[in-house]
Amino acid sequence: MLKGIGTKNGIQIGKVYKFEKPSLSIKEEKGEAQEEMIKLERAITKTIEDIETIKKNAVHLFSNADLEIFDAHLSMVNDPEYLGQIKETINKGYSAVWSTKIVSDNMYEMFVGVEDEYLKERKEDIKDVSTRVLCNLLGVDLPDLSIINEKVIVVADELTPADTAKLNRELVLGFVTEKGSRNSHSAIMAESLGIPCVVACEGIVSSSNHGDTIIVDSNNGDVVVNPSDEDLHNYGIAKEKYENEIEGLKSLKDKETITLDKRKIEIAANIGSPDDLYSAIENGAEGVGLLRTEVLYLNKNDCFPNEEEQFEVYKKVLELMNGKRVVIRTLDIGGDKELNYFKFENETNPFLGYRAIRFCLDRKDIFKDQIRALLRASVYGKLAIMFPMIATIDEFKEAKEFVLTQKEELLKEGVKVSDEIEIGMMVEVPAAAVLADEFAKYADFFSIGTNDLVQYSMAADRLSSKVNYLYQPLNPSILRLIKMTIDGAHKNGKWCGICGELASDEEACEILLGFGIDELSMPAAKILPIRKKMIWLSYDKAKEKIDNLILKD
Ligand code: PEP
Ligand code: MG
Repeated sequence: MLKGIGTKNGIQIGKVYKFEKPSLSIKEEKGEAQEEMIKLERAITKTIEDIETIKKNAVHLFSNADLEIFDAHLSMVNDPEYLGQIKETINKGYSAVWSTKIVSDNMYEMFVGVEDEYLKERKEDIKDVSTRVLCNLLGVDLPDLSIINEKVIVVADELTPADTAKLNRELVLGFVTEKGSRNSHSAIMAESLGIPCVVACEGIVSSSNHGDTIIVDSNNGDVVVNPSDEDLHNYGIAKEKYENEIEGLKSLKDKETITLDKRKIEIAANIGSPDDLYSAIENGAEGVGLLRTEVLYLNKNDCFPNEEEQFEVYKKVLELMNGKRVVIRTLDIGGDKELNYFKFENETNPFLGYRAIRFCLDRKDIFKDQIRALLRASVYGKLAIMFPMIATIDEFKEAKEFVLTQKEELLKEGVKVSDEIEIGMMVEVPAAAVLADEFAKYADFFSIGTNDLVQYSMAADRLSSKVNYLYQPLNPSILRLIKMTIDGAHKNGKWCGICGELASDEEACEILLGFGIDELSMPAAKILPIRKKMIWLSYDKAKEKIDNLILKD
């Protein structure tokens, strides 16, 4: 059995889908023209079939605009100029593999220096298509998460947030990665899709093969490859027990979360897209405490989502929540969340660099589309806008001012905007937690992002498996920051929630209750277990216990 860190959202048993990008080492080689032409024709036909299959599988996952990328790939693989050059090289006596490689490399290089953003991005299409043709020529499998068409458990060295955004929740039962940490965005995104996963599972890549049977127990961080009958029996029982427990909690679905001594805590859902809402509603979410809008941006292949597309998404979420509060976080991109269509400059410490609100305040042209979309959608429900990564009061004021200016403009254009939008911020930079009582004079609410708050307070990269041990959200230093934030909000009559992973940690429930937290937002599957825990706690008793925890002395 292998051990890793689990997302604590269930057990799955299935077949391994090995997600490994092959490294192709191709050397110059000669070939007999007629034979090589046949190989090329076959590889091209197979490539066209592959792209068409991917497109077919992706139809229900992506918008029509996104699907255009596959058409671009199809036209490239059929491009007479591209194929003509490869054939010409074959006729000079080179192999089909070598000819494809050098023609594709030359074409790629041609696009490297171009200024035009659209053309620049075409080089990625060349890379994708040529890698696919080369793999087909060499008989190497090219795994692709969007090509999956049966139920599998994905095994990978690591998955990027962009890879995770493409996971099909109906087919991907779970995933295991060799690298990563509990707090990596891939694990968090998988959790909100309801997919159990185990990360930082050392040895999984070398000890599993495509098609092997695998057990992923995210509750305990266990992974078993090619399990014995006994393992299958034991984990099968544990799986059933866990699923029955969750089913048994369904009676709490329509109940409020009120402690024994009548203190109300709001339990909301963290979501990445409107699709996640069905599970949130099914699990009794009292609102949305965090909509990670970057998922919408990560799902796009070739350009930022425009105002209209975003408007439709925000409107849908607000309507489906039917008057319950929906906290929508503005674009939190950068760090590990990279976009296919926008290259961030290389920085030594991207997590400390140009990202989230820093990027948005610098690129108001991009920010504007999102803010206008949010404001227009505001009339369809109860909207709260939240800025990520705020470090200074000036940043918050500038972002809020920008929202208000956009509102004025829309009103001038005759577009309706709600007058009841709350404008708040994430507290995930220690500087903001320390100064929370000042920030609360300007912000309508706080939501503590404990994932980043721990990362920045402990100076420990949340992606690094080597420093996983420093992910200590219950360390007294972090607890003090949380307490300061809640107190700062309350002093100014504002509310404070938590939308980081700590919100769904059963061990933390009593502490957070004692601190006076107003709202907890978490992946849908965690809502009912946390509600069950909360309703058997007493606020007064919890308050008594917390003093020792923050080491007041
Ligand atoms: C956090 O940092 O705790 C948070 C909720 O944001 P994200 O995990 O998306 O960075
Ligand atoms: Mg964060």
